Amino acid sequence: MARLGSKGREGVVPAAAKIAAEMQEKVDVAIVGGGQAGLATSWYLTEGKIDHVVLEAGRVAETWRSRRWDSFCLVTPNWSVKLPGGEYAGPEPDGYMSLSELIAHFESWAESFDPPVQEGCQVSSIEADGDGFKLTLPTGSLHARSVVVASGGYQRAHLPANSAQLPANVTQVLAEDYRNPAALPPGAVLIIGGGQTGCQLAEELHEAGRKVFLSCGRCPWAPRRMGGKDLVWWVIESGFWNRTPADLPSPAARLIGNVLSTGHGGGHDLNYRVLHEMGVELVGRFAGAEDGKIHFADDLAQNSDASDGLAAGFKKWVDALCEKRSISSTWVLPPPMRVQARTELDLAGEGVGTVIWTSGYRSDYGWVHLPVFDDMGFPVQQDGRTSVPGLYFMGVHFQRKAQSAVLYGVGEDAEIVARDIVERHGPIPAFGRTSP
Ligand SMILES: Cc1cc2nc3c(=O)[nH]c(=O)nc-3n(C[C@H](O)[C@H](O)[C@H](O)COP(=O)(O)OP(=O)(O)OC[C@H]3O[C@@H](n4cnc5c(N)ncnc54)[C@H](O)[C@@H]3O)c2cc1C
Repeated sequence: MARLGSKGREGVVPAAAKIAAEMQEKVDVAIVGGGQAGLATSWYLTEGKIDHVVLEAGRVAETWRSRRWDSFCLVTPNWSVKLPGGEYAGPEPDGYMSLSELIAHFESWAESFDPPVQEGCQVSSIEADGDGFKLTLPTGSLHARSVVVASGGYQRAHLPANSAQLPANVTQVLAEDYRNPAALPPGAVLIIGGGQTGCQLAEELHEAGRKVFLSCGRCPWAPRRMGGKDLVWWVIESGFWNRTPADLPSPAARLIGNVLSTGHGGGHDLNYRVLHEMGVELVGRFAGAEDGKIHFADDLAQNSDASDGLAAGFKKWVDALCEKRSISSTWVLPPPMRVQARTELDLAGEGVGTVIWTSGYRSDYGWVHLPVFDDMGFPVQQDGRTSVPGLYFMGVHFQRKAQSAVLYGVGEDAEIVARDIVERHGPIPAFGRTSP
């Protein structure tokens, strides 16, 4: 069971239970979203004695509760959970928390500082309103001088072009709706999207005795452990997670998947080669469907080579760290993967009963009626601050760095956003962690 590293402080804001009754029509700061990004910001605003409320559509950590599968566990090791006031301090720092442990960790963290969360409160719109913003809530509206949108970086499941061509008689499931193998109709399963989630579901379904087809894209991969250290240790120590948007080859590179790996069963390598050796049938990218047949591009080798290229890019960071610290990583890149891949799958002929879409996520800020988004739907921001005074974002993928949206890095961004808000709303507090 996860435990927290530090105890919360007392009485700066009213208890969550009282918030509903006490919520005013006006508040200094409204945070939208009670996941790690919203709560981390609340932790620092609480520290800064700033009047605020956290408006959460479901419950605290709702995304982890309702949009993950039953056997989900973290891909990042427990020691890398560095939430402010909620660092992992349990007995298994090198383990990977299960879903129930992670939810318990969030509950314990929230209990420790009693953030002013209004649960069951979906914000349906945010618009400019005089010197601040008007937020539309299920019960009316709220005026806030500042707003932090922390509604999640992985909001809307992205389906590839032609996804509507799938025949009506095959069950289609989004990754966030998948729960376990037994909940699926019988038969083989086609998983479309070879990122971290697609690979993990492929492994689970294969182990459950299903025939599995995996439509692969281009994702970096790396060994789970190198030189006795976890992959995430290398990611952090090498500076790979400190990369900023400016370090990327293009804005679209923000959509490249995370490094393929898994924390399942104590953590092990999980990438296209591992899945192929296991017996999962790999195919190229989804290209459409017709007459009960699914088509795939003849690009598996190309995608695998591109994934190896991304892995080689990360390996350069690993090698540089090795040289700097005179250590060894033991990571040797294998020869190119060459697997015979079909370009057509007859769903009935192969007994495919289910297609699972694991083809990634996109932003979904259609309810934020302010002109602060780029043509990919990402908020245009600098350190979380937008060009509209008082409007902030948190938890955006690559908000400041590659680590912005993960449990390790979100606290750093939250402190910066909260510091800016405190400057706007009141005196600068002596925050517990760092000073500029
Ligand atoms: C499948 C998957 C696995 C991941 N695994 C890891 C991992 O192992 N380690 C790691 O560090 N990171 C992982 N991440 C990345 C990241 O930690 C999670 O995506 C995390 O949930 C992001 O936290 P967040 O607070 O930004 O967003 P969320 O957790 O999504 O929280 C946003 C909250 O806002 C609420 N909300 C949304 N819209 C509104 C609205 N209009 N009004 C009110 N409330 C609203 C939602 O209900 C939700 O509770 C994973 C991500 C995914 C998708």
